[in-house]
Order: sequence, then C-alpha cells, then structure tokens
Amino acid sequence: MAAGRVIVVTGASRGIGRAVAVGMAQPGSQVIVNYNASPGPAQETAELVGQKGATPHLLQFDIADPESVKNAFKHIVDKFERVDVLVNNAGISRDNLLAIMKSSEWDEVMNTNLKGAFLCSQAVVKPMMRQRHGRIVNVTSVVGVIGNAGQCNYSAAKAGVIGLTRSLAREIVSRNITVNAVAPGFIETDMTRALPQKAREMLLTQIPAGRYGTPEDVAAAVAFLASESAGYITGQVIHVNGGMYMG
Ligand code: NAP
Repeated sequence: MAAGRVIVVTGASRGIGRAVAVGMAQPGSQVIVNYNASPGPAQETAELVGQKGATPHLLQFDIADPESVKNAFKHIVDKFERVDVLVNNAGISRDNLLAIMKSSEWDEVMNTNLKGAFLCSQAVVKPMMRQRHGRIVNVTSVVGVIGNAGQCNYSAAKAGVIGLTRSLAREIVSRNITVNAVAPGFIETDMTRALPQKAREMLLTQIPAGRYGTPEDVAAAVAFLASESAGYITGQVIHVNGGMYMG
C-alpha cells in the first residue's frame, strides 16, 4: 500500500504543504498537488515530487468553496478510484485585534482553515470507507491550543480543526481510517515571514529550541501519521514546536 498510494495535499504550492508533498513522494505514488492562486510555485512542487519518483498531479481548487472541492474530488476519485491519504494543510491568516477585527477577516479564516478541512474530509470519507482504509492528517497550530493575541479568528479555526479531528476519528476508526492532527509552532514560511521583525524576534525568545521550525520538521510528523505504521494512532495532536508548548 505504501508505494502506490494516492495522496492529496492541500496548499502544496509552498511552505509546509510543499514539504509534505515532497516528503511523502515515493516511486509509484500519485501525489495530487493542490493550490489556489499560485500555479507557478505549485508547478515547482510538482517537479520536486517528480524528482522523488512519484507522479505529480497539479490540481487547482479553492478549499473554501464547496463546489470547487466537490468537483476536484470527483475528478480525483473518477481518475484513481481511491484516495489513501488526505493532508488538510492549506490555511491563511488575517491577523487583527478582536476589537477591530472585520467580520470578513473572521469569515475568510474560518471558511478556509476550518470549513475547508471539513469540506475536503467529507469528500474523501466515502471513498475511504468503501476501500476500508485511509489516513487524514490535519494541520492545526499551537495557537489553536494556547491562543495568541491578534489571532482570535485563526486560533478559533485551528482549535476547531482539533475538535473536527477528534470527532471524525471516533466516527471512522472502525473502517480502518485514522484522523490525526499536527500542530506546528512557528515555522519558517511565507506565513511567518510576513510578521514584523519585532514580533519574529519576540517569538524566538519563546522557543526553547532557539530556532524556528522548518517545513521539513512538520512534514516528518505528517508522513509518520499518514504511514501504515501509525494505524493504531487516531484522534491525536502531535506538537511540532521546538518545546514552546508541551501538550
Ligand atoms: P503558506 O506558506 O502561506 O502557504 C499556504 C498554502 O495554502 C499555499 O499553498 C496556498 O496556496 C494554500 N491556500 C491558501 N488558501 C487556499 C485555498 N482557499 N484553497 C487552496 N489552497 C489554499 O503557509 P504555511 O506556513 O506553509 O502554512 C501551512 C499550514 O500550516 C496552514 O494551515 C497554517 O495555518 C499552518 N501553520 C503554519 C505555521 C507557521 O508557522 N508557518 C504554524 C502553525 C500552523 P496558493 O498560494 O495557491 O493560494
């Protein structure tokens, strides 16, 4: 099962999603590289996946749009007749203090980070139940557990992803499908590079490891949870944060 798997990674055009797609690529596997608005970087991911001997498939869809998700997964299931692994990685942030947060900033973050994970999970659950096998790994965040000033929308969405993970795990474990989450701390990607330098320096003081994480640090935990060896692990949250929070 491991080599010929059909693996879907949302938000694989860059950052953590790219590292996940490349990290799980093996000769014989089919890796669906999803992106929303960045076809160029997604193509680069696809090339890296191909260099690992897997077959990459670029697929644009907006995880926050029910029709877009429905069509994309119909295409995937029609083509491959199975989905072995779904990694719900795509996410956005729209940081602001709650007192001045726009309703649109709340909605965009909820619709992408939480509803997107719901929509994509719903799209794979039936095929996974039919094949009596599957792995779903959700990328949440340390701030979904400990909170963060300026990120009420993002923290709430990521906490919601943990609730989704645990409930869905209970619903489908009897069909040999596991659902787990990985909670990164602060990882060097476009998302954190957008933070002001002062905030980045302050955050570094909170990481006992003394460095930001890399996308590959996160990808290793995702790959383990998606592996055959992790078949008895479900409903868990693995923290990948250099010691900043120990759940
Ligand atoms: P990133 O570099 O900003 O990349 C985000 C990815 O999500 C891109 O590939 C983007 O694709 C995709 N995406 C965004 N909206 C989408 C949509 N509506 N539909 C489909 N794809 C969409 O972010 P990252 O830092 O790698 O973060 C990846 C995940 O880890 C996110 O869920 C994030 O919340 C989580 N996380 C990150 C950190 C961190 O420190 N970086 C910490 C904890 C958790 P396009 O470019 O094509 O739009």
